[in-house]
Amino acid sequence: MIDYHIHIERGPYNLEWLKRFWFQAESRGITEIGVTEHTHHFYEFRTVYEHLLQTTEPDADTSSWLGDYFQHSIEEYLELLEAGKKAGIPLKAGLEADYVPGKEREIEALLDEYRFDFVLGSVHFLDSWSFDIKPTMGWPGKDVDKVYLAYIDRVKSMAQSGLFDVLAHLDVIKVFGHKAQADLGGEWTEVLQLIAQSDLVIEVSTAGMRKLVGEIYPHPSLIKGAARLGIPITFASDAHNPEDVGDRWKEAVNVARSLGHSRYCTFTERRRTEHPLPSFDSTAL
Ligand SMILES: [Zn+2]
Ligand SMILES: [Zn+2]
Repeated sequence: MIDYHIHIERGPYNLEWLKRFWFQAESRGITEIGVTEHTHHFYEFRTVYEHLLQTTEPDADTSSWLGDYFQHSIEEYLELLEAGKKAGIPLKAGLEADYVPGKEREIEALLDEYRFDFVLGSVHFLDSWSFDIKPTMGWPGKDVDKVYLAYIDRVKSMAQSGLFDVLAHLDVIKVFGHKAQADLGGEWTEVLQLIAQSDLVIEVSTAGMRKLVGEIYPHPSLIKGAARLGIPITFASDAHNPEDVGDRWKEAVNVARSLGHSRYCTFTERRRTEHPLPSFDSTAL
């Protein structure tokens, strides 16, 4: 089994730190990890975010939060992952890239310049607002239905951008538990149709279970809809600390299986391979 969404950003970029993530994975029965650092950690990607760094009110807090990043180089990151492989860690070199409309060509050029095994595509920003930092940042006073519609619109563009392999936490807009009042079922169906047409993969992520919303990403209805349309899946913890690697992966597999999935996929140099879902003794959960 895999955990294809891991961040090492809270520690030093060295082998000791990387090994702590792998040891936790191994102890939980994970056999391959995908390390997927956020693009905003790398100064090469700074141009993609430049307009966000200039932002003033009402999203000045997004701007000042983001300004602390861009400390590492991609080369340094890939060298560490290579050293990890040489030390015997079964890992894939991934990246979690923001989809930023209008910056598609810059993102494409950067992704082409380096060798990644897979690239996650994410929406964390709506215009100059980073909506998943904390519930007090930008959310008070917002029309939640409008926020959802803007988010969905952005995800649709991301699905059609041709930049990514896997779409991460498809409904992360629910992170703090805000729910749309309007029935957005038709909108979400369109999202899934675009993902299927673009031959993309989505992740089943236990990260939402650790957030205020307390739910798997994406919602079971979307996991089910993806199975109906033949959209493949990966599994993800979105761990930012070693202890979260492989968090509740068996629960995630059981959810995926019960909603119609029978396979999951891995990536090497951005080529996809599918595997049958593992079987294990569910009574031991
Ligand atoms: Zn993310
Ligand atoms: Zn992440």
